[in-house]
Amino acid sequence: MDQKTRDDLLNLFQGKLNEAMRFYLETCTRCGVCTEACHVYASMGQVRYIAAYRGEIVRRLYKKYFKGRGKFWPSVGEAKELTEMAVEELFDAAYSCTGCRRCMVYCPFGIDTQMLMSIAKQLLIGAHAEPEILSMLADTSIEKGKSLDLFKEGFLGGIKRLEEDVVAKWKIEAGGTPIPVDKEGANLLYVALAGAHSIIPAAAIFNAAGEDWTLSFFEAVNFGAFVGDPSKTKLILDRIVNEAKRLKVKEVCVCECGTAYRVMKQLAGKQPFEVVSITEVHARYLREGRIKLDKTKLNGAITYHDPCQIARNAGVMDEPRYILQHLTDDFREMSPEPKYNWCCGGGGGLVALGEETLDFRMKSARVKADQVKDTGATILATACENCHTQLSDLNDHYKMGTQVEFLSSIVADALVH
Ligand code: SF4
Ligand code: SF4
Repeated sequence: MDQKTRDDLLNLFQGKLNEAMRFYLETCTRCGVCTEACHVYASMGQVRYIAAYRGEIVRRLYKKYFKGRGKFWPSVGEAKELTEMAVEELFDAAYSCTGCRRCMVYCPFGIDTQMLMSIAKQLLIGAHAEPEILSMLADTSIEKGKSLDLFKEGFLGGIKRLEEDVVAKWKIEAGGTPIPVDKEGANLLYVALAGAHSIIPAAAIFNAAGEDWTLSFFEAVNFGAFVGDPSKTKLILDRIVNEAKRLKVKEVCVCECGTAYRVMKQLAGKQPFEVVSITEVHARYLREGRIKLDKTKLNGAITYHDPCQIARNAGVMDEPRYILQHLTDDFREMSPEPKYNWCCGGGGGLVALGEETLDFRMKSARVKADQVKDTGATILATACENCHTQLSDLNDHYKMGTQVEFLSSIVADALVH
């Protein structure tokens, strides 16, 4: 690696060194408590997949370039040179970590390996060694934000074609709009994913609850967050923030996408609107008696997979269970409890990388498959697109014998007219 590249990468590293990050870099006592916490290590048993080991890959560079001892006596401080081989190690560490933060809840110091991996991801971008497709998808989202007029007409045409399916799930009064778009002054802006499955059930439930809502022009997914690029993450997020402000909505409701919800909730900053997940909104409608659900619609025992970014990392755990109480008398909780739930193994951009990561995703999430099978449930619900894809792949691979469903879709099908 030439000196200029190394200097550029170290500048990027320096830019990530806030107080919290320095704490994470300087605190690990190698106590080993996190060893079994990572689903990748628990499933595959390889040392390089222990959370603390991943952290060390970044920590050694920190010691070499940002701590006095490492600068002068690299071997003493276990410092490591930033070389091409180090970049490869960073890739291996960062793209085998889903950012689920299960290790963090076990670590006595609360060391956030996901944050440490954000340094690794930033360095990979600087070295042009990140998965190119993730950066390209992030750029496409940003471009869409800049040229809304170019795709507006096509988008509206596509939405029009979904109206019939929305009305089939919940009839609206004659003259009503099944999927309102660009409605100024609406209460709620719904940010969906690309695809009918993310729009039709949600629209039917909003209409059933008599919500004054409008659909966003933009898709919720944030590829900038997956690839670990803070400026792209912000630009993608800003499209929705600006739209919400322009429409003067009171709430932005994020669809079943864990990363989109966490990014919106934690990075949007103080805004004139609240950020809520669709699961929270559905629980609220039930609590307020705005929708009612028919328990006879669901046949079989059901379990629920808590998406890491919505549950452990953003605290939405009671709401899905409240919804499930209205859907079934045979809910089977997974063990361990939601805060310690095993990650599905698909986060951190791994599902977005598709077939390329399939073999690793299956091997690294064996413990998740076992956790689901142990419940004996035949229906596996979740509230995140990534998790849904990964769990469906796991279902096939491990012959789990479950039917993988979106929670919102089950709610829509159980609406009482
Ligand atoms: S539990 Fe925390 S302190 Fe202990 S080895 Fe893991 S990261 Fe380090
Ligand atoms: S954040 Fe999740 S995937 Fe990453 S090291 Fe921790 S437990 Fe493993």
